[in-house]
Amino acid sequence: MAARSTSSDSIIPPGSVIGIMGGGQLGRMMSMAAARLGYHVHIFTPEPNAPASEVSRRTTRSEYTVKQELEAFANAVHVITFEFENVPHESLKLLESLTPVYPSPELLMISQNRLREKAYIGKQGIATAPYKRVTSLEELRAATRELGFPCIVKTAEMGYDGKGQATVKDDSRLEAIWETLATAEAIVEGFVDFSMEISVIAARNAQGEIRLYPPVQNIHKNHILHETIVPAPVQPAVKEKALEIARTLAERSGLVGLLAVEMFVARDGEVLVNEIAPRPHNSGHWSMDFSPCGQFEQAIRAVCNLPLGDTAPYGSARMLNLIGEDILRWPDYVKDPAARLHLYGKTDTRPGRKMGHVNWGDAG
Ligand code: AMP
Repeated sequence: MAARSTSSDSIIPPGSVIGIMGGGQLGRMMSMAAARLGYHVHIFTPEPNAPASEVSRRTTRSEYTVKQELEAFANAVHVITFEFENVPHESLKLLESLTPVYPSPELLMISQNRLREKAYIGKQGIATAPYKRVTSLEELRAATRELGFPCIVKTAEMGYDGKGQATVKDDSRLEAIWETLATAEAIVEGFVDFSMEISVIAARNAQGEIRLYPPVQNIHKNHILHETIVPAPVQPAVKEKALEIARTLAERSGLVGLLAVEMFVARDGEVLVNEIAPRPHNSGHWSMDFSPCGQFEQAIRAVCNLPLGDTAPYGSARMLNLIGEDILRWPDYVKDPAARLHLYGKTDTRPGRKMGHVNWGDAG
């Protein structure tokens, strides 16, 4: 497509076509935000009936590795972003050779592997849980002995929502745990005795403008985000530290787009990064209704190099995820005049599947 530019002062104006790799709910909500600003969206996903396809102008339905489809997609859009974390790096490099891809494939590659991610964060002088790389049962035994019990073992790649990880309480079941993980590379992390889990979402455009959403508290159930509390009830020093970490990572990585930073607040007030994700994040869904510029609109603004929007919350807010059969309670939420209900249009309800969310706030 014509009129492409990557220079830091040029914008991708409304009317342009934004390509999104991935067709899930994050892509759906990005697409809706893009439409509000007068952009068109083209989704690339292997999935039939993808939630994002329903609300987008076009979909390329293909596996993420098909060269011809990737090339045709890149040539049909003005800028490319992603909502799915496991798009292969080579595919993004191919896309990037034809059309700008934001955030950068390099940053995505870092977040795709927990070992690379921890090493990168540590290099920026930011704390994480202590960890060890393991590639065999013997190494797992040694690492757990060194880090002590309990500890957590996770596959280095492809894990999400608690999949591909196990808490190790003692050394009695290590062999079974290693077999279940069925991986060539894993990370063992020391268990962080945290008082709270929080996250900050940073936005940065190509001009270098940065906006940060406030730290929020995240409550998980079965390793899946259940509820987000806005703002996180933390001491001012913890808030400042969390914001500084997110700003540092956004600046140092040369971010263009969004970066979600998940953190643990240790009992002594230390803030440690658990993981980063260069895309909109479930813990930012509250912002759709209770801040002037929600995270999905912000993602579009950032990748199109528009001025960023205001991230200050209108007041306190709460987001509740509807997971699996929680969706059956939609009639209650739709009756609640204070509830802002968001459903993703997924036809199959499966345990653990994110089906929608509800936002409540005290203002706005
Ligand atoms: P993750 O897939 O890394 O986001 O982990 C999922 C959840 O497991 C986190 O949100 C925490 O509740 C818990 N968790 C992960 N790593 C650790 C750790 N090193 N120490 C304590 N809890 C953890």
